Amino acid sequence: MSTPAASLVAFIGLGHMGGHMCRNVITAGFTVSAFDLDPEALARAAADGARPADSIADCVRDAQILVTSLPGPPQVEAVLCGANGSEGAIAAMAPGSLVVDMSTSSLEVGRRARAAAAAADVQLLDAPVAGQTIGAEAGSLAIYAGGEPEAFARALPVLEAIGDPQRIFLLGPGGSGYAVKLLLNLTWFIQAVATAEALTVGVKAGVDLSRLHTALVASPANSVFLERDVLPLLERGDYDDGFAMKLVTKDLGLAVDLARDVDVPVELASLVEQIHRRARAVYGDEAGELSAVRLYEDVAGVELRWHT
Ligand code: NAD
Repeated sequence: MSTPAASLVAFIGLGHMGGHMCRNVITAGFTVSAFDLDPEALARAAADGARPADSIADCVRDAQILVTSLPGPPQVEAVLCGANGSEGAIAAMAPGSLVVDMSTSSLEVGRRARAAAAAADVQLLDAPVAGQTIGAEAGSLAIYAGGEPEAFARALPVLEAIGDPQRIFLLGPGGSGYAVKLLLNLTWFIQAVATAEALTVGVKAGVDLSRLHTALVASPANSVFLERDVLPLLERGDYDDGFAMKLVTKDLGLAVDLARDVDVPVELASLVEQIHRRARAVYGDEAGELSAVRLYEDVAGVELRWHT
């Protein structure tokens, strides 16, 4: 991996994911300027070795590459293209520089940002991630990129500081990364609901949770969700606060919007989106990403734990 220590990387969005990702870029040897609306997040990045910027323009001015990790489409559009008369990052960047948006965002905002970037002679890559905060911390995220091969090659040393080099995919033209990420999340959150239904019904029917789980994992119904991702919940009631329900429902809404945009009816996705929306309404915006499982536990009056 080449690490051009001289090149300046700007990083905007230092939350649950971006804070760790930014630190890994610094550790890989890049000089980093960072910005976030949250002063505490910015202070943490400064403690990790980033130069804290006082505005978007200040952050990106001298950078060759800007990385963003923002909540969703409105924030991505505001940061990249500007909002309420304030200058966006693209307008403040030097011609020939590169933006890598690692947020889970929409193809529609991606199109508008790409048009603004093209007009300013700035390259744009969408490169959302999977792997939870634990993967962000370990620098082992999977990365799903969309854009020009040349922009991807240019971004690769930074992407390799953030992700697992074996799971950094260039999937096609701009927007392809956003699309794949939305479909991946949709499938995973469908599996979360399917698993919640099967486990609560099984336990209510008198089957021991551990034996039920073992049998399902050894069956054609197995999945990575069942075998691995649900375990922290079954072991210790961890609903994974690192990914908030407000972002889960954002992602599922975007996936259903994408299906609508391409004229494919997706009855199951729409229903599952509403189940997760109910979980957000019941347990709150900041509740953990597996809160839909909790809905089933509460309705059935069971706790899905090994000890039950
Ligand atoms: P987060 O809400 O913890 O962090 C987002 C950060 O962006 C916050 O620190 C916020 O202050 C900052 N921000 C918002 N608007 C801004 C603006 N206009 N200017 C500057 N900073 C701004 O979110 P997160 O969990 O870190 O997720 C970031 C992205 O990664 C989201 O798109 C999410 O869907 C995606 N993602 C998250 C996870 C996860 O497990 N948390 C996993 C995969 C993908």
